[in-house]
Amino acid sequence: MIASARWWYTTPVSTDESEQRCHACGEAIQGEAPGRGLLLWVRGDEVLREEPPLCQRCALAVSMAALSRWEIEEEEG
Ligand SMILES: [Zn+2]
Repeated sequence: MIASARWWYTTPVSTDESEQRCHACGEAIQGEAPGRGLLLWVRGDEVLREEPPLCQRCALAVSMAALSRWEIEEEEG
C-alpha cells in the first residue's frame, strides 16, 4: 500500500476550499463556516455581493449587532 501512503503524503495541506479563515478575526475555520457575513459593494451601477465566512464567535457577534440595530429602528419608528 505504498501508493496510498504516498497519496496521503502529497495531499495539499491547504487549498481555498479546505482552509477558510474568519473574515473578521482571521481565525481558522474547520469545515463548513458556522456563519457568513454579507457585504455589498457598490461600484458605479454595479452591486457586488460577497458573503465572507465567519467563525462561530464573530457570526454570533454580527447577528447580535443586527438584532440590536433592529431594536433601535423599532424604538425610533
Ligand atoms: Zn472570527
